[in-house]
Amino acid sequence: MNFIEQNDPDVWAAIDSEIERQQDGLEMIASENYTSPAVMQAAGSVLTNKYAEGYPGRRYYGGCEFVDVVEDLARDRVKQLFGAEFANVQPHSGSQANTAVYLGLLEPGDTVLGLDLAHGGHLTHGMKLNISGMLYNFVGYGVTKDAHRIDFDQVAKLAREHKPKLIIAGASAYPREIKHAPFREIADEVGAKLMVDMAHYAGLVAAGLHDNPVEVADVVTSTTHKTLRGPRGGVILARKEYAKVLNSRVFPGIQGGPLMHVIAGKAVCFGEALKPSFKKYAQQVIDNAQALAETLMAGGLRLVSGGTENHLMLVDVTPLGIGGKTAETALDRCGVTVNMNMIPYDQRKPMDPSGIRIGTPALTTRGMGQAEMRTIGAWMLDALANPEDEARHAKIRGEVKTLCADFPVPAAALNQEMT
Ligand code: PLP
Repeated sequence: MNFIEQNDPDVWAAIDSEIERQQDGLEMIASENYTSPAVMQAAGSVLTNKYAEGYPGRRYYGGCEFVDVVEDLARDRVKQLFGAEFANVQPHSGSQANTAVYLGLLEPGDTVLGLDLAHGGHLTHGMKLNISGMLYNFVGYGVTKDAHRIDFDQVAKLAREHKPKLIIAGASAYPREIKHAPFREIADEVGAKLMVDMAHYAGLVAAGLHDNPVEVADVVTSTTHKTLRGPRGGVILARKEYAKVLNSRVFPGIQGGPLMHVIAGKAVCFGEALKPSFKKYAQQVIDNAQALAETLMAGGLRLVSGGTENHLMLVDVTPLGIGGKTAETALDRCGVTVNMNMIPYDQRKPMDPSGIRIGTPALTTRGMGQAEMRTIGAWMLDALANPEDEARHAKIRGEVKTLCADFPVPAAALNQEMT
């Protein structure tokens, strides 16, 4: 029986269309992924009914004995996964995690150094319309002009000049491995704390394939739904000394009752990430990104930094005489979902930038490998070279759909079983 369809056909129609969109199309947004059926089931469980303000063993509500078990499992597993002394798994999102850390480590008006949004940073790293930019004095560092690598000389110079209380490493659109030790050195030199927002590459860290920021940072934040492949949510890891203040900034600081069903999904996700199969998955994500990058470059496209070392790439589409918006639309017509993105030192505007951002985590979860990446890369090159040719896009759309049929979206089957 499908209860949604029976009780609310309008909502079901939208969900059903989304199942079809996910199954029949190529999801290449770098920050998206497909959860396992187990994660999906946990996130759709009866735990959504439960109020549990507080923390395990110290709740403001009765009846928390079982959700306490779930939250303890989530905390213990994520600490084990990253080697952290302390974990808070309650942030509803990555933005909540970052906001709680800022409230815990900073006073309004304090100076913070973070990666410029236009060079790959996230809006919670000081964008003027975000609470981070409203409350704190963010100074942005960037990447070098030629190699597009984090400019550590500039980070050091700005740190000496502005004496920030906090330095933030981590990015939303940076195709290279981030080394965290140089940030630690600079932070120590100027007496700043170091926060690393590993939202994008947490899965690669969990698999031991990317530098682990927990080893050097005071605090590490992440989302759980990107390369980590869990439910939509956030998490904070830190040294023990920050436990009390960070817990109190999450609750009651910025949140009320935790989303226990999502925390159950996080526990399942962390359990999955501890298994050897996750390491294989993460390695395939990187291998796939490299295969796709090589195909696109061989086809004449220019990649920011000349390639990728992680799960994403930034492609400058302007050599084809188009902008990111046109590229996004053309690929969308082919059933390939990406997002337009600014590239470093972009001459164009955010609503029609020079680039697109492409990621491989979701397609890798579906079981695709390098051979599929080469095929997809060829389709992308064809579509981008002929951005107005709708007939060609329709033909590619058909080929995309055929390919997708061989690689089912894991938890879509769970949703469809309701029917
Ligand atoms: N931090 C980084 C680096 C991100 O890329 C993102 C999301 O894209 C976030 C934080 C925020 O996560 P959320 O969308 O869950 O608030």
